[in-house]
Amino acid sequence: MELRQHVRPGCGRLAPSPTGGLHVGHARTFLVAWLASRREDGPVALRIEDLDATRARPEATAAALVDLRWLGLDWDEGPDVGGPRGPYVQSERRAVYDEALARLKAAERVYPCTCTRADIERAASAPHAEDEGPTYPGTCAHRSAADAPALGDRPFAWRFRVPPGEVGWDDLILGPRSIDPARLGGDFLVGRNGQGPSYQLAVVADDALMGVDRVIRGDDLVPSTPRQLLLYRALGWEPPRFGHVPLVVGPDGRRLAKRDGSIKLATLRERGLDPRRLVGVLARSCGLSDEAAPSAPGDWVDAFDLARLPREPWTASADDWLGSGPFVEPAVSGGNS
Ligand code: GLU
Repeated sequence: MELRQHVRPGCGRLAPSPTGGLHVGHARTFLVAWLASRREDGPVALRIEDLDATRARPEATAAALVDLRWLGLDWDEGPDVGGPRGPYVQSERRAVYDEALARLKAAERVYPCTCTRADIERAASAPHAEDEGPTYPGTCAHRSAADAPALGDRPFAWRFRVPPGEVGWDDLILGPRSIDPARLGGDFLVGRNGQGPSYQLAVVADDALMGVDRVIRGDDLVPSTPRQLLLYRALGWEPPRFGHVPLVVGPDGRRLAKRDGSIKLATLRERGLDPRRLVGVLARSCGLSDEAAPSAPGDWVDAFDLARLPREPWTASADDWLGSGPFVEPAVSGGNS
């Protein structure tokens, strides 16, 4: 299989993981990603990141599409509309990932690792801030890719050998960034032998082959970016531009709790909230307006400018979009997931 990259100017993507309901924090990040592409007349691809079989729920895929459409976002390519770079569901893209991994093996950029199961199991999911594990001590780093057959039936994973040095990029939102991946987990997993890729490898292969030229996502994925840049280099692909949207916190300063109905898009939708009201609040939070005027995402395309996005966390207060309407549900506190 040939893995050819054709970058498409302005092409962006929305990449939800179908692991639970989307909340206003996701909505804000997706709105920014969508506006950034539409501002440049670029295509938007919707990709479902369902590789983590232990967390992905089939009904959550359909729900994510409904949530995003309710918000007023659209996409030119995706699992429901097709497109030239499909399939748009990661669990259907195994052949692509296998080929990318084969290239890394052939170039001796990865080695077989027989270390802990838990570490390996976690690798299919995007590592959000709290999931970053300790630095890999290099236990299996003495092996080469060519040593794999000698392991026989022993289960193992493929680990990418991180070269020394800092990896830098000019973040579209946070400005110049430089991180040494060796100090951030070190050699990282790219796949389990015979069982599919890690998040890091899948997302790089997908963004490259879908022609994405700008990745906008939450800033809890900043630590993934240097790893992904190393993979782009190792695979001979041009990296996209990256922009990381600052975190959303609740009025208590803590990460939004997904269980809180007042922030979950599905709950807001079912209770009859006018999505234009939420979009107005989000647009204001992105520095596009001083007021939260009810509006559709498309109303902000001309005014959109990433430079106006505040670099501090956004404090989301449900009162802003709920007001005192009849659908108000008391906020359920607790949980920080
Ligand atoms: N699917 C990932 C998540 O929902 C996002 C990955 C990315 O944007 O690179 O956490």
